[in-house]
Amino acid sequence: MEQELLIGNESHVNYGTEHLLSLSVAQDALAPYSLSSGGPSTLPLELMDRPTEDEGEDTGNHGNEGLPPPADQLPQGEHNDSIPLQMDWSSLSISEHVAREALVQYTANKCCYRIAPAKHMVVQSLTPLNTFRYRLQTFTETRETFLISELYDGGFVDSSDVAPAPAPWAMLVDAPPLFTDCEMHIPVPHTYSVQDCPNCQGHGKNRCHSCNGSGKRRCTACSGTGWQDTSNQSCLFCSGSGKRRCSNCHGYGWWQCIRCYGKGLLLYHSELTITWKNNIAEYVVEKNSGFPIYHLQEAAGKEIFSDENQVVYPIVNFPEPTIDRGSESCIAQHQMQLASNSHILRQKQTIELIPLTKVEYEWRGKVYSFYVFGNENKVYAEDYPAKCCCSVM
Ligand SMILES: [Zn+2]
Ligand SMILES: [Zn+2]
Ligand SMILES: [Zn+2]
Repeated sequence: MEQELLIGNESHVNYGTEHLLSLSVAQDALAPYSLSSGGPSTLPLELMDRPTEDEGEDTGNHGNEGLPPPADQLPQGEHNDSIPLQMDWSSLSISEHVAREALVQYTANKCCYRIAPAKHMVVQSLTPLNTFRYRLQTFTETRETFLISELYDGGFVDSSDVAPAPAPWAMLVDAPPLFTDCEMHIPVPHTYSVQDCPNCQGHGKNRCHSCNGSGKRRCTACSGTGWQDTSNQSCLFCSGSGKRRCSNCHGYGWWQCIRCYGKGLLLYHSELTITWKNNIAEYVVEKNSGFPIYHLQEAAGKEIFSDENQVVYPIVNFPEPTIDRGSESCIAQHQMQLASNSHILRQKQTIELIPLTKVEYEWRGKVYSFYVFGNENKVYAEDYPAKCCCSVM
């Protein structure tokens, strides 16, 4: 039985048949904007307390998350339905010469592999195990707003009295090239307002905690008595008062507010954060050949099918049937993960043929094997016969 490996966006997930998403789920994926039919978001830009970054305070995520994306009005383009016909993919194999050259190169680059077996081995068989990689790229845009505060020095305030503030999805921006990660921060016009500084409640200053606002603290030299211990004279440090000037606030009893610099007011506005992300899900067909399939992540293949559109549909009738299910699953996975809180701008799906050949050879009376894979003719040779001790570590 074949096994499938789904390489998700953030983690690698193995799934068996029981975890495959049903066809009905995948078909639901064909209506991606059902969640976004409400049009551009009109969520209020809630005013939330957020310190300015230069104060070094927490600037974590205080935004309104998951703004619903707008209904999409872009027309759908033509889909590529031209699934390649069954070719002689399964029998394509590298030549013995190429296999030997790949192994020689591989051992030459490894300090602890001796080159002799690679040069003088007797190749017994070359078994093609070529496989397929399905890759789905989903390019999304997410919009969130955050409340930003800054010092206010007077002057014009672009408030909602000037004009209504635009909804997040109504703001026009230049998007980056397709399938490119990018982030942009834009102040939202007409969201500015002047409010009391929350750190000092608008007073511009805060009471000194060391002296509780009095500006004086008990004299430590005389413990507040005002008299010297050893003589009947008044304390030299506090002149007999028993109190000294508070060193923390220099006797003022209060501190100027560090957030508003004593103004008592801050200028607030909404900032729109737009995130474009290229999400990738992959599916590789494994044929239980003994070759660790994760090595294929670093190998290039030959692209045999490509389809790009606003949304793509699951592959059907690919000669290797698990590709159909893998594509269905990847599309459904992205739909579930991404459609509810971001706007899917574009999708692209590709199928690559990844060359993989198992080479069996004899060296000094014993049989060994190695694998040559990818367009680059990379090598995996776990049981290579001439490794020195350091390779055991
Ligand atoms: Zn303040
Ligand atoms: Zn004293
Ligand atoms: Zn003080």
